[in-house]
Amino acid sequence: MKTLNVSVVTPDGPVLEDAYEMVSCRAESGELGILPNHIPLVAPLTISAVRLKKEGHTDFIAVSGGFVEVRPDQVTILAQAAEQSEEIDVDRAKQAQERAEERLKVAKAEDLDFKRAQVALERARNRIEVSGK
Ligand code: ATP
Repeated sequence: MKTLNVSVVTPDGPVLEDAYEMVSCRAESGELGILPNHIPLVAPLTISAVRLKKEGHTDFIAVSGGFVEVRPDQVTILAQAAEQSEEIDVDRAKQAQERAEERLKVAKAEDLDFKRAQVALERARNRIEVSGK
C-alpha cells in the first residue's frame, strides 16, 4: 500500500510524524480526502478532527485551526494547537466548555468576548468529541 508522510506541527513543537495511507481533514472549503499523489494545495483548516488511516486503523487528532499543505508524498498540518485523541484531557475540555457557555450567557453578541467564547466552545467540543475516538 502506498503511503504519505504526515507531520502535524504546532508552535509548541511537533505532535506527530508518521506514514499513513490516507488523511481526511476539514478545510474551510469542505472535507478533504488525501491519498498519495494528490495534487499540491494549501488550505485553511477548521476546528475539527483529522483522521489518519493505516493498516486498518484510524488515528484521530483534534486540530484548533491552521493550515494543511499537501504535496504528492507529504501532508503537513500547521495547527494553532493539536492533540492526539489519547492525549486529550477530557475534564479540562469540559471545564473549558462550561466556562465558554457561561461567558456566552453574559456577553453581548457583538462583543469580542462573545466571539472568543464561541471559538473556545468549538475547541472544547471538538476535543471532547475526538477524545472518545
Ligand atoms: P483551556 O482553556 O483549557 O486552556 P484552550 O482551548 O484555551 O483551553 P488552547 O489555547 O487551544 O487551549 O491550547 C493551549 C495548549 O493546551 C495547547 O498546547 C493545547 O494543545 C493544550 N490543550 C488545550 N486543551 C487541552 C486538553 N483538553 N487536553 C490536552 N491538551 C490541551
